[in-house]
Amino acid sequence: MSAAPASIRLGCIADDFTGATDLANNLVRAGMRVVQTIGVPEGPLDTDADAVVVALKSRTVPAADAVAQSLEALRWLQAQGAKQIYFKYCSTFDSTPAGNIGPVTEALMDALGTDFTIATPAFPDNKRTVFKGYLFAGDVLLSESGMQNHPLTPMTDPNLVRVLQAQTRRRVGLIDHVAVAAGADAVRARIQALRAEDVGIAIVDAVSNDDLLRMAPALAELPLLTAGSGVAIGLPGNFGLSPSNQAAALPAAQGRCAIVSGSCSVATNGQVADFVARGGQALALDPLRMAAGEDVAAEALAWAAPRLNNGPVLVYSTAEPEAVRAIQARLGVEEAGAMVERTLAAVARGLVAEHGVGRLVVAGGETSGACVQALEIAQLRIGAQIDPGVPWCHAVSPIAPAGLHLTLKSGNFGTPDFFTKAFARLDQAA
Ligand code: ADP
Repeated sequence: MSAAPASIRLGCIADDFTGATDLANNLVRAGMRVVQTIGVPEGPLDTDADAVVVALKSRTVPAADAVAQSLEALRWLQAQGAKQIYFKYCSTFDSTPAGNIGPVTEALMDALGTDFTIATPAFPDNKRTVFKGYLFAGDVLLSESGMQNHPLTPMTDPNLVRVLQAQTRRRVGLIDHVAVAAGADAVRARIQALRAEDVGIAIVDAVSNDDLLRMAPALAELPLLTAGSGVAIGLPGNFGLSPSNQAAALPAAQGRCAIVSGSCSVATNGQVADFVARGGQALALDPLRMAAGEDVAAEALAWAAPRLNNGPVLVYSTAEPEAVRAIQARLGVEEAGAMVERTLAAVARGLVAEHGVGRLVVAGGETSGACVQALEIAQLRIGAQIDPGVPWCHAVSPIAPAGLHLTLKSGNFGTPDFFTKAFARLDQAA
């Protein structure tokens, strides 16, 4: 199939993998057909889409690397015909005084030749709201939300104007709730006023989805938007698109069903327990046997092979915190994590390549990254949401030439019955 650059409206650059899926999911729900790429593709996009989200891993790398990666993504998106660029970061504005939100924003503004953009991590569906420039997570200020203790990006100041000003040479201002509540024309007037004051980047207040939808028309003229995933809900309308089931359409699902889970989060532990309690076919993997050099992945595949005909199989390393700590104490945190990820990725690859799995649920952010790599997936088409932030996706790769449906669930997402519900949703869609 030939490239269809003319159809690309919105080009998005996300600073991490699950954040990219979160944005893609919001765009699909608002009516866009979306493809997510893993890193910057080598060649042109070979499928039709209204928006492309390029997933980078640039949140905590040195600022110069983040800038270089983002500019490479920009050039590729421009080559695909993107009319507007959206730089997506975390809804908790994860950054350090050195960046990377400020430096990347500045570099994108320079490259696009624009003197003004917005910055708002507001995502009311996920309880992230911005008021008078202060970011709230749930009922508390960002700096009281636990994010002040984040190991890589501690957020000790909830005032986003100050936080961003520390990261950029451009003047940072505020489009406050009074303007947003008054509607798009008031936001446009505020943008004009800020421009006249030489402000280059404006934090925008938003405490509800209505705020995001109301401001959206005023954002249509800006070449660059920077935001969490919330702002996305109002953008398809700017391109004449409205919510439709068509946007989430994926090819028909086929093949056997499997779940690979390496997340040890509370929600995932509950989901594994729920699946087992329902009588699901499940195999727990023992990290100590992996450490001893046993071929745990091959054993898991041999276990799964005869059972796949009877329904979904679950292969998991998911464990309660004490068990995880015990393994980490013996092997080291990083070594334990990498070893388990390698094993689960080999299981995922074997299930798809050798055992006819065509519908795969992966639980865990890092686990997902390892599995996507092992499955040699370069891009995903985003389908319907299963639970907030978790859509079904479809990919074709050398490992899955006939196509694979997969969903990548980050740790704390999803209801307890997620593993059962996910496959049922796919059947309903068929
Ligand atoms: P989440 O999205 O819940 O944070 P991740 O996949 O990102 O899940 O992270 C879980 C990490 O824990 C991975 O590096 C995984 O390999 C590791 N892990 C999984 N199971 C175990 C276990 N039983 N013992 C130690 N580490 C584990």
